[in-house]
Amino acid sequence: MSDSFPSVLDRIASEIAATPGRGRPADYIPALAAADPNRFGMAVAELDGTVHGVGDWQQPFSAQSITKVFTLALVLAQEDDELWEHVGREPSGNPFNSLVQLEYENGIPRNPFINAGALVVTDRLQFLTGDASGTLRDFLRAESGNPDLTFDLDVADSEAAHGDRNAALAHFMASYGNITCSVPELLDQYIRQCSIEASCGDLALAAGFLARHGIRADGSTLLSRSRAKQVNAVMLTCGTYDAAGDFALRVGLPGKSGVGGGIIAVVPGRCTVCVWSPGLDERGNSVAGVAALDRFTTHTGLSIF
Ligand code: GLU
Repeated sequence: MSDSFPSVLDRIASEIAATPGRGRPADYIPALAAADPNRFGMAVAELDGTVHGVGDWQQPFSAQSITKVFTLALVLAQEDDELWEHVGREPSGNPFNSLVQLEYENGIPRNPFINAGALVVTDRLQFLTGDASGTLRDFLRAESGNPDLTFDLDVADSEAAHGDRNAALAHFMASYGNITCSVPELLDQYIRQCSIEASCGDLALAAGFLARHGIRADGSTLLSRSRAKQVNAVMLTCGTYDAAGDFALRVGLPGKSGVGGGIIAVVPGRCTVCVWSPGLDERGNSVAGVAALDRFTTHTGLSIF
């Protein structure tokens, strides 16, 4: 199969180029709105770090919610099951930035990938490390081998200027005692975290530990096999907003999307995939990205089902 990844990627890129309709870039963070929906890149990283790419696979883009996979893993690497007392692991069925469930569920968000849940995870990581976003950046640099990977502070400033919804979520959860840091400190860390700029190649490599059942690029253990399974399972059930069922049906892999138009997907024991195209559908997933992953599992047979 390894030899055929380049040809599969070429085939997918030409099929995507021939398909009309790319969706629209996110505009609730103004700095993301100018992205060109016609950009498209895709990379596959094998377990040994061999990377195959097509199109704009080396172009850095705004990782946004993709970072939530890594912060979850970094917290689970340091805490036992305590995290699951602060955040659930059920699909929400609501938009990623929704407030409604929090009141009925005592300030405990449904899962770590909706914004409320990701704020709780970042709060835990900040509590554990004193520098959640820096810990995340350093981890991504180490796993991708890219020492230049960093924050896009223009995107961070843009989100901070339009962050009322996330501030409301954080304050509301704090009122239930489910946030440890001060809310301004947490929001600063979360917004920096989301502003990480990385390419498809970087993110496919950085997610490699999920395909290696918890083993980092240098051979050390980040997560036990069982905890790596947990992260993949939450990606499968909750990783693509309120379209996780549709994504599972079409793609059949654990995946996590972000409003920058990127999606990472994991084939446990085999490889990781990252695709980027900034045009989103109405639920916030990259239109071309989901289509490309659908084709990837169809052409290769590499789904978990
Ligand atoms: N920074 C974005 C937010 O909090 C991330 C959203 C996403 O990518 O799902 O709204």
